[in-house]
Amino acid sequence: MKATQFHLNTLKEAPSDAEVVSHQLMTRSGMIRRLAGGIYSYMPLGLRVIRKIEGIIRSEMDSAGAVELLMPVIQPAELWMESGRWEQYGAELLRVKDRHGRDFIVQPTSEEVITDIARSELRSYRQLPKNFYHIQTKFRDERRPRFGLMRGREFTMKDAYSFDRNAEDALKSYQNMFDAYIRTFNRIGLTYRAVAADTGSIGGSASHEFQVIADTGEDAIVYCPTSEFAANVELAEAVALGGERKPGVQPLAKTATPNKSSCADVAEFLQIPLTDTLKSLVLAVDRPATDKKPAAVSVVLVLLRGDHELNEIKTGKLRGMAGFRFATEAEIDEYFGCRPGYLGPLKTAKPLRIIADRTVAQMSDFVSGANEVDFHYTGLNWGRDLPEPTEVADVRNAVAGDPSPDGKGVLAIQRGIEVGHVFYLGTKYSQAMNATFLDIDGKSKVMEMGCYGIGVTRLVGAAIEQNHDERGIIWPRAIAPFEVVICPLGYDRNEAIKAASDQLYTDLKNAGIDVILDDRGERPGSMFADWELIGVPLRVTVGDRGLKEGQFEILSRRATTPDLVAISEALASIQSRLAEIK
Ligand code: ATP
Ligand code: MG
Repeated sequence: MKATQFHLNTLKEAPSDAEVVSHQLMTRSGMIRRLAGGIYSYMPLGLRVIRKIEGIIRSEMDSAGAVELLMPVIQPAELWMESGRWEQYGAELLRVKDRHGRDFIVQPTSEEVITDIARSELRSYRQLPKNFYHIQTKFRDERRPRFGLMRGREFTMKDAYSFDRNAEDALKSYQNMFDAYIRTFNRIGLTYRAVAADTGSIGGSASHEFQVIADTGEDAIVYCPTSEFAANVELAEAVALGGERKPGVQPLAKTATPNKSSCADVAEFLQIPLTDTLKSLVLAVDRPATDKKPAAVSVVLVLLRGDHELNEIKTGKLRGMAGFRFATEAEIDEYFGCRPGYLGPLKTAKPLRIIADRTVAQMSDFVSGANEVDFHYTGLNWGRDLPEPTEVADVRNAVAGDPSPDGKGVLAIQRGIEVGHVFYLGTKYSQAMNATFLDIDGKSKVMEMGCYGIGVTRLVGAAIEQNHDERGIIWPRAIAPFEVVICPLGYDRNEAIKAASDQLYTDLKNAGIDVILDDRGERPGSMFADWELIGVPLRVTVGDRGLKEGQFEILSRRATTPDLVAISEALASIQSRLAEIK
């Protein structure tokens, strides 16, 4: 490719809405252009990266035995009504009507359509297992599209769907995809971690996310450096801290804590460790009316140690807690006779369900709100001042320093960007949509399914978050828009330089190297700055002085000083350098 033929458009400034470096650098390097919130044109430079990522994914999917098809972006609402997701999906699902007033959706994912295909095309056990995938445009009307391509509304996803005769085979298909993902992300060249993930409303045990490690990631990953344990914080088990409960020694006292409504303020005021305080969170669950009962609200008190945070996913999975929300001030007043900031489990205005975190159940001589503004109880003890907690559960986020749930070390936390997700679905969709096959015993059975996504366009952003410096992007070789850029100093005015550059360009192209020749005749400073911003792994400079000595200058994007290489050895040198770049 020659630069004048291609389309380059670099910018000095990033747009003001670009919060993260990948969004800034993608815009500045001219990879993407915003059309509307969360909707971007992939410009030629960006599309090259996307195509390379797709190529790697496609080759690993194919070699894992998956077969490619292409399902429509626009899908009829009926299928989504059959699965129940027409109602469940909420505002992220873009619904449209055609000219006849019929309902359609713009696909956010394709379980319904693939299950529809499977139920009509896969009739016999002889056709199973099968794994279909496509790489297609998705639309999700995200509440907060941001971070450029990382949380867009329109984006590209690879989604694969496996169909098996039984659960045992489905788990083999799952493992097969898991292994293919490992190979895919290794080839792309990113540092990532496969972590156990929440299975949402579907349940079951098998779900893993592939998280690219980056400080700007939206997800927190809990892992144990000395064992295999790794899980999304949403799911990660938090063990009870503090060992066996010590006997209480302090007397119960109501203590004035004027204007101290947070655990941290109370601890500081009373000069006690934060770990001696209790955090009281009041949650509510709305129960819609049924034939037998009118609508009602259950109010629940959740107790955490003062330094811990509520884990909403784990809490939502407890009996009767699905769809909980935080209680209103009116509800809190009804049950506690007090406003937030001074709430606690002792002497509530009305009895209510109490859920104590595992660590809370181990505490003694602790401090909690006294259900009276400006007062806390100190020296509180289970069994003595309060009944023993009847409901003890894991409702907090695991934190760095916690013992690992597998007992093999201490937990650490990293941030990650979810770029892939593998999921064992069981019969959720096949049951709802009646996708059955005739098994070997002549009986009709429901197919077992799995689904497997990779965020193709999110990967572009994640790769940049992980690989950049103050000058720009540093592409892993496998997904770089070009592997090598030739920068001639005076292409438009020096015949010798033009000839040497053209020759090198031809040699590299013939050797199968993805090369771009910057024939724009730009001044060296701005030309170099462009390619550093764009992040091409190797730059070859062809200059007057070097030519006279029979040399080119080769600089890798991660290095600061170039090497001089004899022209006759340039091709071999470039090949061996590229082979070393991840
Ligand atoms: P998230 O929790 O980030 O919203 P998700 O659980 O909704 O992700 P999946 O439904 O599992 O995502 O989709 C598969 C993959 O698609 C994700 O792993 C991610 O890489 C990508 N993806 C999801 N939402 C977006 C988005 N809004 N923009 C870009 N990529 C996305
Ligand atoms: Mg989502």
